[in-house]
Amino acid sequence: MKPVFPSILSTFTDITAAFTSRYGGISKVPYASANLAFHVGDNPEDVIQNHDLLADNLGYNRNRLIHMRQIHSDTIFLVDDNLTFDTPPECDALITNISDTPLMVMSADCTGILIYDPIQKAIGAVHAGRAGALNSILPKTIEAMSQSFGTHKEDLRIVLGPSIGGCCYEVNKQIAVECDINGYSSALRRVDEKVFLDVNTILLEQLKRLEIKNVEVIEHCTSCRCDEYFSYRAEAQRTGRLAGVIILR
Ligand SMILES: [Zn+2]
Repeated sequence: MKPVFPSILSTFTDITAAFTSRYGGISKVPYASANLAFHVGDNPEDVIQNHDLLADNLGYNRNRLIHMRQIHSDTIFLVDDNLTFDTPPECDALITNISDTPLMVMSADCTGILIYDPIQKAIGAVHAGRAGALNSILPKTIEAMSQSFGTHKEDLRIVLGPSIGGCCYEVNKQIAVECDINGYSSALRRVDEKVFLDVNTILLEQLKRLEIKNVEVIEHCTSCRCDEYFSYRAEAQRTGRLAGVIILR
């Protein structure tokens, strides 16, 4: 495994937060090599071994890891002690203030988001593609942290992981209209008859509206850089998933 540690989270000693790339695992093409998702057609034993390699690398118990059955929704799950690695909830955001309970978001073009509240000692992991972003899953997750943990939004540190950029993500006219209606015209780039969408611009606009300033964006486009990351679009939908992981120690 070759995780990247976002700089705005790496200064805190009571959490570990990282994003994986496609390197350092044992899966074979087209999942080579660090695929972490079970639903994409990869050999489940290889996926488990990749999870174990990552757990060893970041120093957590793999059986304590909570991941998600992601459905491009705005459903947020408050993690409790009843969940295990083998029972991922159907949702697109996880929040908790329980220590030694790693939260994982997986992606291959969508934006994985890691959230840390250093005052209330709470964390979140969010999956936001175009649908999730337009359904405001990120602001809703922040609101859920406020309700559950007393989080003040201005205390938050937030990282947007590697995702497909406006350089590569072509969308249809209907989506462009939806962006315009919701005040996200700046996320669109029009080239002749084509329209391209930068989902991170929507997410950053939402954080700006909430006056959240401590934000880091890992700028790499997964489609441009599918040598380094998995890209659902650049690889004809047959590929693995990378992950963002955050652990409260
Ligand atoms: Zn690109």
